[in-house]
Amino acid sequence: MNEIKQQTALIIEDNEDNMVLIASLLENAGYEYVWADTGEKGVNLVQSLKPDFVILDIQLPDILGNEVLKRIRLMDDSVANVPVIAMTSYAMTGDRDKLLKEGCDGYIEKPIDPMRVISQIKAIIEEVA
Ligand code: MN
Repeated sequence: MNEIKQQTALIIEDNEDNMVLIASLLENAGYEYVWADTGEKGVNLVQSLKPDFVILDIQLPDILGNEVLKRIRLMDDSVANVPVIAMTSYAMTGDRDKLLKEGCDGYIEKPIDPMRVISQIKAIIEEVA
């Protein structure tokens, strides 16, 4: 039997409840995940872990998600183009447009819809590939 390499998601999210929700949905869908609870840790893990994609909260305790995104896009070619999926709340419509202009590949809405979020994530990743 061929072993299929599981894709790894990096979840940059300071809210543990939200992280646990997304992580359990990703695990059920066959993904591995690593959690960063600050933007700085997230930036470092993108470089060292080279995840297959990043789920990025915008309101982080240290730096904004926008800054995390900017730093990722300035990294070397092995990681700079990693798909980044932002999490934004419904009210933040203007922020979404800004994030897409800044190089974000797509977004999912907070609160997370457990029934839809995995298909939304897959659709964004496939579009980038
Ligand atoms: Mn947050």
